[in-house]
Amino acid sequence: MKREALKSEKPRLIDSFGRTINNLRISVTDRCNMRCTYCMPAEGMVFFDRAEVLTFEEIVQFVRVGASLGITDLRLTGGEPLVRRDLHILIQQLAGVEGIQDIGLTTNGILLAEQAQALYDAGLRRINVSVDSLDPEKFATITRRDVFHKVMAGLEAAERAGMSPIKVNTIAMRGFTEEEILGFAQMAREKPYEVRFIEYMPLGADDVWEAQKVLPQDEILERIHAVWPLAPVEEADSRAPADTFRFLDGKGKIGIIASVSHPFCDACDRVRLTADGKLRTCLFSITETDIKALLRSGATDGEIGDALVRAVWNKEPGHRINQPDFIKPARTMSAIGG
Ligand code: SAM
Ligand code: SF4
Repeated sequence: MKREALKSEKPRLIDSFGRTINNLRISVTDRCNMRCTYCMPAEGMVFFDRAEVLTFEEIVQFVRVGASLGITDLRLTGGEPLVRRDLHILIQQLAGVEGIQDIGLTTNGILLAEQAQALYDAGLRRINVSVDSLDPEKFATITRRDVFHKVMAGLEAAERAGMSPIKVNTIAMRGFTEEEILGFAQMAREKPYEVRFIEYMPLGADDVWEAQKVLPQDEILERIHAVWPLAPVEEADSRAPADTFRFLDGKGKIGIIASVSHPFCDACDRVRLTADGKLRTCLFSITETDIKALLRSGATDGEIGDALVRAVWNKEPGHRINQPDFIKPARTMSAIGG
């Protein structure tokens, strides 16, 4: 029997390009206690009414259906996921869903110091904390909140609670990130954190993205390599979005999510559920599947599963950021779930 046939004995979510989907990113809120300049406007952000946002029960029901079809990995995000009350309870419930093997969280870290232990006790191990600058003033400029020290305390609390891996995400924006690169490389060398630079993508609320504002992977690597030589790492999970590099002297790793300069769409294994219950098959999708409508109209698990299978089959081949006909999604990153 062929290997494919053997694998197909298990239900699978597969798209029309042959990619298997096992990763679901769940946005638990579109609200946030920061206003990062590349993500949200300073004022006037309109958020979903609370009634629009999926309840824990609805999220768990959808995850149960997804897991029965092959979803194994979850990541909770937002908005800022830690502003959603009792998030640790959701994590505990999700960890109990049969088939779920891995749960991660992406946070801005403001509320992490006070929640790290409860999150750990609920089963969370894998955490990504976004830190765009190691200079408190620059940090306050880009996030529009003066909370650098709270975020650092959050990282330390995650470490103390025993979370691992801890990844630090930092935006890679020309004119801002250049002078941060070596500081972050040093952090990756000295702390038990993998630092990952994320190329700036056209997903902000203000229409200010330009290709020249992306600080690309090659330039980041060159600057670090000149001081601390690096070598690429073949990750066990070749579908992880970051290209990973280790310091040749053995001190830590850095990653780069080069969505713009080196798109990884061919290996994409993920779909996204927005806080208001829409399924998106790409960050840059211009169509969505209304899962909330199904959940709230009493659809059976079978019907919800069929909608998921259909949406996955129609997953886009890739984003079109670098194409002249690129259409920016109507939602910002915070309303999609980054
Ligand atoms: N609030 C949490 C946080 O900041 O980590 C989770 C949600 S946030 C949308 C997730 C990640 O998306 C963050 O690391 C953030 O820096 C990144 N992000 C937001 N807008 C982006 C953009 N236009 N281009 C690249 N990354 C972006
Ligand atoms: Fe909030 Fe995260 Fe967007 Fe910053 S990147 S405004 S922390 S959702």
